[in-house]
Amino acid sequence: MRNYSDIVIAGGGMVGISLALQLAGVMPETTSICLVESFPFPQISPDGKPQYHPSFDARSTALSYSTRLIYEQMQVWDELQQWLCPIDSIHVSNRGRFGSTLLQAAEYDWPALGYVVENAWLGNALIQALYRQDRVEVRSPAKVLGVTPKGEGVSLRLEGDSVEELDAGLLLVADGANSGLRDALGVVVEEKSYQQHALIANIATAQEHRGCAYERFTDEGPLALLPLLPGPAGENRSALVWTLPPDQAAEMLDCSAAQFLQQLQLRFGYRLGRLLQVGERHSYPLALMQATEQVRQAVVVMGNAAHALHPVAGQGYNLAMRDVAGLSAELMRGVAEGKSIGDLGVLQRYRQTQLGDQERTIGFSDQVPSLFMHSDPVLGLARDMALAGLDILPPFKREFVRYAAGVAEMGGQANG
Ligand SMILES: Cc1cc2nc3c(=O)[nH]c(=O)nc-3n(C[C@H](O)[C@H](O)[C@H](O)COP(=O)(O)OP(=O)(O)OC[C@H]3O[C@@H](n4cnc5c(N)ncnc54)[C@H](O)[C@@H]3O)c2cc1C
Repeated sequence: MRNYSDIVIAGGGMVGISLALQLAGVMPETTSICLVESFPFPQISPDGKPQYHPSFDARSTALSYSTRLIYEQMQVWDELQQWLCPIDSIHVSNRGRFGSTLLQAAEYDWPALGYVVENAWLGNALIQALYRQDRVEVRSPAKVLGVTPKGEGVSLRLEGDSVEELDAGLLLVADGANSGLRDALGVVVEEKSYQQHALIANIATAQEHRGCAYERFTDEGPLALLPLLPGPAGENRSALVWTLPPDQAAEMLDCSAAQFLQQLQLRFGYRLGRLLQVGERHSYPLALMQATEQVRQAVVVMGNAAHALHPVAGQGYNLAMRDVAGLSAELMRGVAEGKSIGDLGVLQRYRQTQLGDQERTIGFSDQVPSLFMHSDPVLGLARDMALAGLDILPPFKREFVRYAAGVAEMGGQANG
């Protein structure tokens, strides 16, 4: 094995693998790329089911149109399509209050407002694409233990079969929200806890979702049911993301399936008929985390290590994918200018290009739950008006949908 790579990606989760595939597709052949992941990459089991991996667990992800465009360029979209359920409409409502709205893809001549994929299948498609190409050196299971600056690049300490040194021209830190490497580099993180947990599970329902994603705001927090492809026996399925105070989340995690479905039905109502079954339940504590520094000479902090968001608007991964596309564009520009791969000026240009998108997306993800959770009557009225306003003011509604689809940030290329 080499002990130098031009680019080392630390962390092979949703963002790390996407980075590897994107860079492998666009960087000159002479640029060596190495991906280091501490968890063994899963193989496909004989029953066709992907195996567990922490980044590709039982969650589902709503992919925006902007992510679709990036996947098309990375040539994973065709493979992924079989696992995607298009979102044809989004129904936004407020439990126990006036005001709801329906956002429809057809109104905008868009193919879909987004696409929902189970993380396990997303991981499967990304890992298969990684195995198909021979450009990226994959080290898994191997853990990056530490990093120190060395010349224009960095030196990494790696633990695989043994502990070894690996030098890199550029280190991309993609080791998740609790990034050990970000901390080892002394990058300060701003953290705001939402004092809430996201409880996720797949739900079987009596009625078909017809491609509708439901976003329902309750006084405890937002609750989303995202459309999934039918289950193996043809069950109608939706992916639940239920935001709750930690004690209630713990209760809902441990109670019987019947109690769970009863409580959920009470909050969600009968828009999908009777809720019939609940799958594996998991809970994630929610916080807004932002690294105060994202670039240094030869280092970029990416994905959840750079910014972890409230999942209410389904923006975290989509934002990270736009960062991936933005970084690869700036690295290529740097190469064309004859700059070194870890050149600070090039990395700062990337940071500057993405800053506006990051600030708007983080602000949006942060404000939506606050507005909709408040029991203050004035804010309650504001959210009712916001929901009603979406229907009354078509241009505002169009902007909201464009924003949710991520196309506002991609120069508005949504018609496809
Ligand atoms: C409930 C929930 C729902 C969500 N829904 C959506 C959605 O609908 N749409 C959306 O856009 N986003 C969504 N998100 C956000 C999305 O899940 C994250 O943006 C995404 O998981 C971030 O991926 P990541 O690769 O940065 O981090 P991770 O998934 O945490 O991956 C980090 C990887 O690094 C590895 N690693 C850690 N340390 C080391 C080391 N030292 N050396 C080597 N490897 C290491 C880990 O094993 C792991 O594989 C949701 C999040 C939650 C919690």
